[in-house]
Amino acid sequence: MPAAVSIDGVLVPAGQARVPVLDRGFLYGDSVYEVVRTYGLEPFEVGAHLARLAASASRIGLELPWDARRLEAEIRRVVQASRGEDPPEPDAAPWNRGERTIRVVVTRGSGEMGLDPALATAPLVVVLVLPLRGPAASAYREGVAAWPVGARRGGDPAAKTGEHLFHVLSVREAARHQAHEALLVDGQGCVTEGASSNVFAVEGGVLVTPPLQVGILAGVTRALVIDIARAAQVPVREEPLPLPALLRADEAFLTSTARELLPLTRVGEGTVGSGAPGPVTRRLHQAFREFASGATS
Ligand code: PMP
Repeated sequence: MPAAVSIDGVLVPAGQARVPVLDRGFLYGDSVYEVVRTYGLEPFEVGAHLARLAASASRIGLELPWDARRLEAEIRRVVQASRGEDPPEPDAAPWNRGERTIRVVVTRGSGEMGLDPALATAPLVVVLVLPLRGPAASAYREGVAAWPVGARRGGDPAAKTGEHLFHVLSVREAARHQAHEALLVDGQGCVTEGASSNVFAVEGGVLVTPPLQVGILAGVTRALVIDIARAAQVPVREEPLPLPALLRADEAFLTSTARELLPLTRVGEGTVGSGAPGPVTRRLHQAFREFASGATS
């Protein structure tokens, strides 16, 4: 498998990569991370991802041991090390075939056991590169289902931290209902985001997505889609999205690094719009595809 790992700047064979059991990322989820993808094996939007990594680290008072330049150089080095024969992926969408997902994890490091972060000696930097497993071509053609789950417990939604159990259990719940993604619904009954995606609805030609203030991750793809929509004269409103409004919408889609724009055609027991990917979603995805190809060619 074309995979490669570096730990604190040392390349390690992927199957032998290990972190210490006293590492606080392992013990407490005391870490921050980013997921970057490649196009043509070129990392995409690295600057935005590394800026968010720095923001997440600052939100939890973790001082990143490397600056963005060093992290970017390491990402490129590990992607190079992952070059190799890709297994055939007949079901993958063409833009997801032969690509990589890059996970950059910085933990607060190891130390004497105890919750106090001051016990940590030095942060640990892991860069993990694996084959990208994006949605299948059929998911883009037909759309996917999402399952609503109740209000978030704990954690800082604006920081991408290793403390992720709520999202794990939300996806477990969604999978029990054969849904691709879990939709997080807040105490006001509004959809805030997916477990690992942002959410958009199309209502009468207007793109609607929850604002950052409702407590969501500032998705890199979300920001690109908002810019691309405005450039394509599609009006965008950032406002709370009640679950019933999502169900009444003409179209809906999810965004994330690995998914790009993925049509959302079923929510809970209901159908969104016609039950098939809509024209605005298709147009914006096409515009996104052109942007991504241009940015990495
Ligand atoms: N929300 C959450 C909770 C996520 O984990 C992700 C995936 N990083 C996203 C949204 C989408 O963000 P991005 O477009 O930067 O991948």
